[in-house]
Amino acid sequence: MHPPAQADGTAWWSVAPYCRICGARPALQVTVHAHQGVLMWMRFHREDGPFCRSCGIAVVRELTTKTLWQGWWSPLSLVGFTPIALICNFSVRRKLTTLAPPGPSAPGATRKIQGKPVHQRPLAYVALVPLAWVVGFFIPQIIPAIITHI
Ligand SMILES: [Zn+2]
Repeated sequence: MHPPAQADGTAWWSVAPYCRICGARPALQVTVHAHQGVLMWMRFHREDGPFCRSCGIAVVRELTTKTLWQGWWSPLSLVGFTPIALICNFSVRRKLTTLAPPGPSAPGATRKIQGKPVHQRPLAYVALVPLAWVVGFFIPQIIPAIITHI
């Protein structure tokens, strides 16, 4: 429940953010990340809110799916940027689910369609390729090398 007024006397509803996409409330100021990496080329993409629950989850699903299939193909992406982006998006998703369902959209604005959850999007499973490589190639090479040196 919001307090009736802010410390400076303004009503909470005059400062509560509107969704950047559909104009509805309640909305939360969050940032959703995507990462792409191919060899030495990397791209960092972000979408800043505020977002309502519906539009925010749609953006999280879209950028997370993009990261899951495009984010693993450079060394720094594989070990750093992509896992960080995915963890950040997971955290944003959790925050967005605490919001109440959005009210009506602003006139002329269209709410973003959530689409399927990430686990129902085939492109998300491209992430299994680098994982399979780590499990199938990297670990069998490294573990015996470590064990023989102990
Ligand atoms: Zn919205």
